[in-house]
This record gives sequence, C-alpha cells and structure tokens, in this order.
Amino acid sequence: MKAILPPAMLGILGGGQLGRMFAAAAKTMGYRVTVLDPDPQAPAADFADVHLCKPYTDEAALAELAAGCAAITTEFENVNADSMKWLAAQRVPVSPSGECVAIAQDRIVEKTFIRKAGLSTAPFLAVHTAKDLEGDLSPYLPGILKTARLGYDGKGQVRVKTAEEARYALSELKHQACVLEKMLPLVAEVSVIVARTSRNEVVSFPVAENRHEGGILDVSIVPARIAPAVTERARQMAMQLAESLDYVGVLAVEFFVLDGDELVINEMAPRPHNSGHYTLDATLTSQFEQQVRAMCGLYPGRTDLLSPAVMVNLLGDVWGDGGAEPNWEVLLTAPNAKLHLYGKREARVGRKMGHFNVLAGSSDAALEQAEAIRATLAGERTPADA
Ligand code: ATP
Ligand code: MG
Repeated sequence: MKAILPPAMLGILGGGQLGRMFAAAAKTMGYRVTVLDPDPQAPAADFADVHLCKPYTDEAALAELAAGCAAITTEFENVNADSMKWLAAQRVPVSPSGECVAIAQDRIVEKTFIRKAGLSTAPFLAVHTAKDLEGDLSPYLPGILKTARLGYDGKGQVRVKTAEEARYALSELKHQACVLEKMLPLVAEVSVIVARTSRNEVVSFPVAENRHEGGILDVSIVPARIAPAVTERARQMAMQLAESLDYVGVLAVEFFVLDGDELVINEMAPRPHNSGHYTLDATLTSQFEQQVRAMCGLYPGRTDLLSPAVMVNLLGDVWGDGGAEPNWEVLLTAPNAKLHLYGKREARVGRKMGHFNVLAGSSDAALEQAEAIRATLAGERTPADA
C-alpha cells in the first residue's frame, strides 16, 4: 500500500470521545477528517472538517464517505460490519477490516478465534439456545452469563452460581445468544494496545493495570505492577492475536492475570481503548496517532514509556447534582497532571466526560497523587444539598 499523506481526508465511523481524539491526532498531522455520526453533538465534530450527521447504515452517507476519503476507520465495534465491508468494496482502504470487527462483535466468535490462535480464555460454553444449558455445567460454575453481542461496561451480564440460576438468567436475557463463562479468581486485570500495519509491522504499548468501578474502567496504572516476565508475555500474546487476525490498525486486548502468573485473554476491542489514554501524555506516539499511521500505511511510532503514568476516568458523577462544574483548581495547577475533556454538554451518572493523566516517578507515586487530585474534584454543592 502506498502511504497516504497529509492533507488527505480520513474518515471515521463514530464520533464519540475515541473519534474525537483520533480526529485531533489526524488534524495535528495535517490530515482532514470526516466523521459519520447521527448525533448532532458528537464530541468528534469539534475536530472534524466534515460531520455527516446520518445513521451508520445510511447508504448516501456511506457513499459520500467512500467517495471523499482516502482511508476509513472506526471508533467502535458495534458499527455494522456490513457497512465496513461495503466501504471496502468501494476500493477505499478500511482498517480494521469488517471481518476483524465482526469477530470482536460476538463473544462466541471472538473467544473461539482466540482459542484457535493458540491463546487462552476463561473456560466458556457457547449458549445459542436454552438446550445448551441442559448438560453438565459444573466446568463453568460459578460463572457469568454474558450476552454474545452488544455488551459493554458490564452490561448484559448476570452472575450465576447454579445451573438453575444460569437457566433463569438466560430467560431474563430474553434468550439472546450468550456465553457462560467460568468466574476466575483475578489477581489483576491488565490490557495491551497493539498497532499493526498491512506490512506486518507490529508494535505493542506498555501494559496497563486496570481497576473498574461498577463495571466501568476507573483507573489505569502504567507500568502495571506485575512481574516483568508476565508483562512481556502479555505483549507477545497481544501481538500474536493481531497477527492471527491479520489485523491492520489499533487493537486493544484485555487480560485477566490469575494465580501463578497465568494470563488469559478476556476480550479485544478493534480500536483504541479507554485503558490506552495514558499514551496521550506518556508515550511519544499516542494510540490515536498510531491509528492514523496504521490506516495511512505509515510506520508505527515509538511506544516506549517516557514516564510512569496513571489515568483516571472522569464520569458524569463528578459533576454533582444539577451539573455543577467540578473544581479543577488542584488538577490544573499540578504541573505533572493533564486534563482531557470530551466536550460533552450534559453530565450524566456513569457517562464518560473526560479523563486526566498524572505522570510521576513510579506507578505508585502517580497513583497516590492521582487519587489525591481526584478527591478535590467533586463539584461544589449548593447549600440545599450540602
Ligand atoms: P467493558 O466494556 O468494560 O470491557 P464488558 O461489558 O465487555 O466490559 P467484560 O470485560 O466481559 O464486560 O467484563 C467486565 C468485568 O467483569 C471484567 O473487567 C472483570 O472485572 C469482570 N469479569 C468478567 N468476566 C470475568 C470472569 N470470567 N471471571 C472474573 N471476573 C470477570
Ligand atoms: Mg471488558
């Protein structure tokens, strides 16, 4: 593939915060950006030259995208994989491919693929119909029943202890296709972001250690506080998965670390990932610049960690009742902290509004300071709710 150079127009399906940070990276390099997103207030629109405000399956909008863009990517996996295949058929380079996105869209297909690639997952049972839950379920219990499609931030998941509970949970999930996955004792959760070009140049970013709150990523700590050998293995596994997929673009791989330093893959995302936001400040190349480079056929940029870093997600909860602005003073006066807001007008509980990164001498020092900063943010309360 011949390199696509600035000021070429790059297209992206989806205009949320990931699309916004992609667009910012592309614009910084001198590319132009077209965003397809039905939301008139899509966060990425602030950085886009063109905002096609249409549904993802709108044929005229897809045709416009194909005609006007030198390359196309996506910011989320639940985009219609057929739309991506249609775009690719118009001879526009589309990365990642619709085929890779389709694999990541379905937990059954995804976990089966990971196993076939010689990598491990938690023990799981594919549940297409209630009949699949009739046999011996003991290898998967206690477990989690997860819908095969459209799950995110822990939605569409039910924890079950017995076969009866599993069957009941399936009816609660309206008999959608599911996986029944064994609940594993986790020592830690980590993730690796990989970037790969069509010439099989593949790089991995340093491993992030992730903590969740209420099913949503809360904090990423980099470097992860796990043994160096485990770090190295996680990076190798993530790159192996990208190669098995013949993947082009940025791929995020989430792992569970088990007792005895065992690593299993939880899931993958065919795009930059929330746990990779530390790369905006702590590596020479961010995951979003890497997405631009991969789709344009440029070489991947350097990924080594310039400083230990901690990323803290800012959910709408921080805005307090009535949408009061957080108190940014301490964060904005800390010379080693970096605020990133996504330009969303309405703060809702659980909504990702932004994040901040803290760079310090060690993971522990960054974590301690990040927690101290976070404690100062809560929006000013009016006397009525004080
Ligand atoms: P997200 O969108 O945040 O990635 P998701 O809806 O895709 O979430 P999962 O990643 O499958 O869901 O699970 C969410 C969280 O639940 C995991 O990060 C982990 O903390 C816990 N979890 C999931 N599966 C298991 C398991 N088999 N054993 C133990 N904990 C699990
Ligand atoms: Mg997950």
